[in-house]
Amino acid sequence: MKIIEDLHIHTKFSKDSKEDPEKYLVLSLERGIEYLGFSDHIDLDPVDKDYGYYKYDEAFSSYKELNDSFGDKLHFLFAAEVTYQPGLEESIGNAINGHPYDYVIGSVHRLQGFTISGLKGIGYFEGKDEFTAYNKYFEEVLKMAQTDFFQIVGHLDVIKRYGATFYGAFDASKYSRIIQKILLTTVEKNMVIEINSSGFRQGVGEQYPSKKILEMYRDIGGREIIIGSDAHTVNNFGAYLDEAVKNALSVYDFDVITFDKKKKINLCKLSDLFALSNT
Ligand SMILES: [Zn+2]
Ligand SMILES: [Zn+2]
Repeated sequence: MKIIEDLHIHTKFSKDSKEDPEKYLVLSLERGIEYLGFSDHIDLDPVDKDYGYYKYDEAFSSYKELNDSFGDKLHFLFAAEVTYQPGLEESIGNAINGHPYDYVIGSVHRLQGFTISGLKGIGYFEGKDEFTAYNKYFEEVLKMAQTDFFQIVGHLDVIKRYGATFYGAFDASKYSRIIQKILLTTVEKNMVIEINSSGFRQGVGEQYPSKKILEMYRDIGGREIIIGSDAHTVNNFGAYLDEAVKNALSVYDFDVITFDKKKKINLCKLSDLFALSNT
């Protein structure tokens, strides 16, 4: 399979990564990846330990420097993954508006003071029944989708990463009403769903989001996806994209999208990736 793009990558400008950005670019050229996007974390909750770590000026000047060296060899994109929380809209606007991001991923990582996408956040689930824990998460994803800040809905069902250890395998059909609302909003707001392969390496056994959610997306008319490995080190760069893309293709032959200054570009169909191979 050709890996045409990886639009979800973390580098040393994210609190939870130490990776040298240039290494991803060198590997991308080796692997024939045509579109590479750095989507470092922007965390804006003042009580979050990651708050204030991201420095726009440093991230952008590093990007510009690397783009001078690599920009004629591949499409190198400047992006961010913002942790959405209701009430932080003003800070989010200040953090992203007026900056030349090619796209911004909206992700829900924090609920009730817990970082639910990380092991330290498992306290969120303790003492909660499954419905309460998951519904709260999806309500915040819906709010995130309703804002006009983001081009991409990041790892839509990441709540299952640790939720599954409390409640068993995640079944999206139990939350179909709210998930359908999220997906309808995604389409209405001209956003795109991310196929994020990191679930495979995180012990979830599948990509984010699940096939069931991708079926719902297909059924409400969603056609566009982006592909990301959510690597925080080059060791995980591109990991399990094959498996994630195959699962998505088994649901529908979605359009693979990339962005240029927040404008969508339709690259190909998922099935086209299997007709091609990387150089
Ligand atoms: Zn994330
Ligand atoms: Zn990420």
